[in-house]
Amino acid sequence: MTAANHEKQPLVRARNVHKAFDQLEVLKGIDLEVFPGEVVVVLGPSGSGKSTFLRCINHLESINRGSIEVGGEQIGYRFRNNKLEKLSGNAIAAQRRNIGMVFQQFNLYPHMTALQNIIEAPVGVHGESKAQAMAYARELLQKVGLSDKADNYPRQLSGGQQQRVAIARALAIKPKLMLFDEPTSALDPELVGEVLSTMRDLARQGLTMIVVTHEIGFAKEAADRVVFMDGGHIVEMGTPEEVIGNPQHPRTQAFLARFL
Ligand code: ADP
Ligand code: MG
Repeated sequence: MTAANHEKQPLVRARNVHKAFDQLEVLKGIDLEVFPGEVVVVLGPSGSGKSTFLRCINHLESINRGSIEVGGEQIGYRFRNNKLEKLSGNAIAAQRRNIGMVFQQFNLYPHMTALQNIIEAPVGVHGESKAQAMAYARELLQKVGLSDKADNYPRQLSGGQQQRVAIARALAIKPKLMLFDEPTSALDPELVGEVLSTMRDLARQGLTMIVVTHEIGFAKEAADRVVFMDGGHIVEMGTPEEVIGNPQHPRTQAFLARFL
């Protein structure tokens, strides 16, 4: 990422985001801006609110206070007559079109081939022509290194291959922003590398990404910025050199000590 990017508008702007599940406060005022082309890696212990934050960006959860904008649009709400009103399901679906998400459990449709999984949303949800969607799906399969697996069913693919299909599926809607929630945590150790390598390629191609992961090596190499979350707060944020190489906060230091 270059300094020039900072002159642009942020693609994601989260301000004072609060989220509670009943009495349990999970996000306690998250502020984060992500600029176009930036890769932000979110680190933090289990239960710190990382997944919840990603889910709020995609409006899989609604927030209790604050705001999240993606591409200048407030997620889940709009201003009308000086008042904030909730968006309709259709409008929320339109906003989600800009955001791809990859989960720990890849959840491919088991009865569909890799190619069918990838074209499902573009054709089934967004009304693209099948021919067009298939051509793009083949491009995406090539991008994730699986050109020869188009007609394989998920059960015929390794976990790493399935996750790469899931990444291609998320890319099929041409999102402006990709959210990754521990994409390699469910994989056997020898399959982690191929998925991280695919993600590194996407980062190099300028995709804007927020990645929750425990892969410190990936964070060091691929992140423009690292965010350390704990207890529903962003405790520390900076370059990988700063946050991983020279953490300032005792909680960041304690967390990272586990990976030494
Ligand atoms: P992380 O991804 O950092 O491990 P999560 O965002 O998944 O953390 O969870 C943060 C806290 O919120 C945890 O205590 C979790 O149990 C709680 N939580 C997450 N989702 C829900 C939910 N749908 N209902 C109730 N509690 C939830
Ligand atoms: Mg999580």
